[in-house]
Amino acid sequence: MKISQFEVFVIGDGPEIDPDQGGVEPLACIRVHTDGGLIGFSEVFRVPPRVVQATVGGPETHFGRLLLGQEITHPERLWQLVWDALIHTNRRGWEIIILGALDVAIWDIYGKMLQQPVWQLLGGTQRGPFQTPRGQTVEVTPYCTLVSDVWGGEPMFAQQVARAERLASLGYRAFKVEPMMSTPTDVVEIARRFRQALGSVPTLMVDVGYLFNDVPTAVRVCRQLEEFDIYFFETPFPVDVPETYAQLAAKTSIPLAMGEHAVTRWEFVEMMDRGQVSVMQPYMTTCGGLTEAKRIVELALPRGAIVCPGNWSTQILGAASVHLAAYSPITPFIEFAPAEVLDSPLRQELQNAGFPVRDGVISLPMCPGIGYELPQEIEKKFQMS
Ligand SMILES: [Mg+2]
Repeated sequence: MKISQFEVFVIGDGPEIDPDQGGVEPLACIRVHTDGGLIGFSEVFRVPPRVVQATVGGPETHFGRLLLGQEITHPERLWQLVWDALIHTNRRGWEIIILGALDVAIWDIYGKMLQQPVWQLLGGTQRGPFQTPRGQTVEVTPYCTLVSDVWGGEPMFAQQVARAERLASLGYRAFKVEPMMSTPTDVVEIARRFRQALGSVPTLMVDVGYLFNDVPTAVRVCRQLEEFDIYFFETPFPVDVPETYAQLAAKTSIPLAMGEHAVTRWEFVEMMDRGQVSVMQPYMTTCGGLTEAKRIVELALPRGAIVCPGNWSTQILGAASVHLAAYSPITPFIEFAPAEVLDSPLRQELQNAGFPVRDGVISLPMCPGIGYELPQEIEKKFQMS
């Protein structure tokens, strides 16, 4: 079975819905067709759709020349073929993110070809009961990322905590507050308000979105946060200088997290080894695909780190995260942008079409491939040019 065609199309909520409030910005999606009729599917987060179109959109594009006509074999062979071809042109950035999306789509085809769910082909389920809050069953636990219409102060506390309460009532068990563009006092205060309202049982993460420039301020904030049982503290500093992370890690008991925009396993290795970061957050496309994400798991494991796949995109990407989490022995949570509290019709419909969250967890998908089928009505209704 050979790759016969790449199809790129764009969906989105439209300009009137703000991406910062949960709206889906124009999102390129790729279908990989084969001459045997099997089709693989993925989205490409945060690459301008016209760049995707120009790179993948036909036989004369960069990826068209490399991959059209290639036999579907183990996805790692096709990944390596592209990587080797890019060594003189583009070893990070948009082209690797597009490779990541193609890799997810190729895993989708490979699973359909072998009639196995992708997690089975990644190595089977290596999860232990200790990895899920409930214990016995092997399942995947999403944590909900909470945003608000405004950053800082009372309105931010009130809206994010109210959203957490609503989601907890629906069964979700883990939450990440986002005190972006806020004062150090507000970062601590939102954790306090969360615990006051929701108690000690739910898991709580804090993401400050590269808020700090100096280590001493971040140390003070982390020391004050410690009493609220914070599962991880995400992106305190820009990620360009890993040593700032290492200095903070040495002075707090809260694990540090990063990786939402990191590309290739090498950026993760650097943050683990030089930055002492112990929670890796690869996006299943951005990092370079499921092939690269599996390598990140294999590199994190002997370092004593964990991998919690990031996803502020849709449940198309979320489906790939579920497969990585099902396989990974060091993935207690995956990120989840809950449509129930976000103002985005497209996000809601894509979530409805994805793997259901029941009682706060996702059962392992048993269908061949990735198992995310995009309903035609969604594609039609939200198609953008
Ligand atoms: Mg973040």
